[in-house]
Amino acid sequence: MEIKVVRNILEANEVIASQNSALFAEKGVYVVNLMGSPGAGKTTLLEHTVEHLKDTRKIAVIEGDIETSRDAERIAGHAIPTVQINTGGACHLDGNMVRSGLKGLDLDQIDLLIVENVGNLVCPAEFQIGEHHKVMIISVTEGDDKPLKYPLMFQVSSVLLVNKIDLLPYLDFDMKQFHSDALKVNPKLEIIPISCTTGEGLDAWYRWLEERSS
Ligand code: MG
Ligand code: ZN
Repeated sequence: MEIKVVRNILEANEVIASQNSALFAEKGVYVVNLMGSPGAGKTTLLEHTVEHLKDTRKIAVIEGDIETSRDAERIAGHAIPTVQINTGGACHLDGNMVRSGLKGLDLDQIDLLIVENVGNLVCPAEFQIGEHHKVMIISVTEGDDKPLKYPLMFQVSSVLLVNKIDLLPYLDFDMKQFHSDALKVNPKLEIIPISCTTGEGLDAWYRWLEERSS
């Protein structure tokens, strides 16, 4: 019984997500769904990304959080259109929430929309929002065992940003093992080690995004 309910929710979501996707195609908006744990560095990455791309791309951001508009305020400080969605307890964004968030944006004026999902390694991976690609960010402080423990998120993502690599000397994080586990779970995953503190690796991420949102 329970299983059936969950499946129906996911099926209903797929319908709305494909409507969002059709709208993005019609308006020529490239959409990324950015996922990761709380504290992985999603908002900080977005601040750098917005600064780097805002002169050449018309960027907008949707911020998903359970409560507060703190992240949206940080992004809006970079003078781009920003919408905050508060899920009021739900630990992920779904197609319907993103659809309501879109009401706050003029899609005709946007080339690239980045949606920061709620900090969570589990269910954001299950819910389509109409995005072109899912991107996962993980911090090396979270440990190198995550690909095998939370395989779905690694499977559905196109890019994996491995953040805070400047902290590697202080941590017991086996990068080689992590890479090999992540690729075991998803052989097509593009892995980009980065540090939002030193800026290392960020150019590769910007390039990936620029190639798709031109
Ligand atoms: Mg955030
Ligand atoms: Zn959830």
